[in-house]
Amino acid sequence: MKTLSDINVDNKIVLLRVDYNVPMTDDGAVADCSRIIETKPTIQYLRDHGAKVVLLAHFGRPQGQVHETDRLRPIISAVSATLGVTVSYVDDCIGPKPKAAISQLQPGDVVLLENVRFYPGEESNDPAFAKQLAELGEVYVNDAFGAAHRAHASTAGIAQYLPHAAGLLMQREVTELTTVLQHPIHPVVAIIGGAKISTKIDLITNLLPKVDYVLLGGALANTVLLAQNHQIGKSLVEAELAATVKDLLSNKLKVPVDVVVAKAVAEKSPKRVVSLGAVAADDYIVDIGPDTVRVYEDCIRQAKTIIWNGPMGVFELEAFAMGTYHIAKLVADSEAYSILGGGETVSAVKKVGLEQSINFISTGGGAMLEFLEGKILPGIVALD
Ligand code: ADP
Ligand code: MG
Repeated sequence: MKTLSDINVDNKIVLLRVDYNVPMTDDGAVADCSRIIETKPTIQYLRDHGAKVVLLAHFGRPQGQVHETDRLRPIISAVSATLGVTVSYVDDCIGPKPKAAISQLQPGDVVLLENVRFYPGEESNDPAFAKQLAELGEVYVNDAFGAAHRAHASTAGIAQYLPHAAGLLMQREVTELTTVLQHPIHPVVAIIGGAKISTKIDLITNLLPKVDYVLLGGALANTVLLAQNHQIGKSLVEAELAATVKDLLSNKLKVPVDVVVAKAVAEKSPKRVVSLGAVAADDYIVDIGPDTVRVYEDCIRQAKTIIWNGPMGVFELEAFAMGTYHIAKLVADSEAYSILGGGETVSAVKKVGLEQSINFISTGGGAMLEFLEGKILPGIVALD
């Protein structure tokens, strides 16, 4: 993978792919600027080198058509404020409009082009569309790690037509994730939770031989509990995968020894802590129990490296958030090098204000998972 030091960006028109697919509030403001903040170092680097910076980004799922509610105009003020520079906006990403705007740019200027997913060629990685994007600039830099698992025109195809490199965020993501995957300091503890085991089975399979413990929580642990013939009541489960997950069972794989159950997944629903044998047929498992936290604490305390993805319970409801918060606190207090990622995991950690105590928080949800599954990401190979 080429990095910024491998290419010349001095006074060039640089097409910088960013991941500005930010969450919005109901009244149309950017709810969380993290993804914009993360791109500041690369943009600063480019501006310091006199580059004219042309930002390419996607937003939402407009399915290859102009979709008024997926325009990027509403994020422009937040982008300008966050980057500390007036960013201009063009309501198209190929053709005469961006060409005209780019021809007016001075060194250090920044412009954001319209949602690349308004064209079907983006997601189909159409070479003609990639070429039209490439025609707008002289150099391509990719900082959109969050979209690196997609072989799209602006994340992969375009690199063929221009000198290219990873931005500083992309470079940091790849360095951090490669280190934990290939030469972590042992003991390594992976904490895996969340909703569906189908989305994380490849992750668990790839990590098991590399790590010392995998601690499971969340609804995905229910499928493993079912595979071990435990009663899980009405809990969220992917029963059809129970046979498959049997192959994962080993001494390294820890499952909850007790759980929090409720008769409904609702804040006010009365809850009980029960041992595994005592889940009733009409119970929902909504969190890991305190004994499980203690067992997991022993592993986490020994760890020198921690990889965490996926909440331990339905943490969005305060009543079922204790397991996730206890684990967050243990990871934050640990001496281990900690990395975490995943949309809900990051928001759970932010909710309790512990994000500063984590060594590295990946900006990629799906991209981080695929990287840790050992897959080759098209957005990264394209930068070779
Ligand atoms: P991430 O985005 O961090 O990778 P996931 O998307 O895999 O995590 O899963 C997060 C979701 O899993 C959360 O919305 C949470 O409510 C849900 N979840 C966790 N535990 C349970 C459970 N026991 N029952 C139902 N949903 C759960
Ligand atoms: Mg998620």
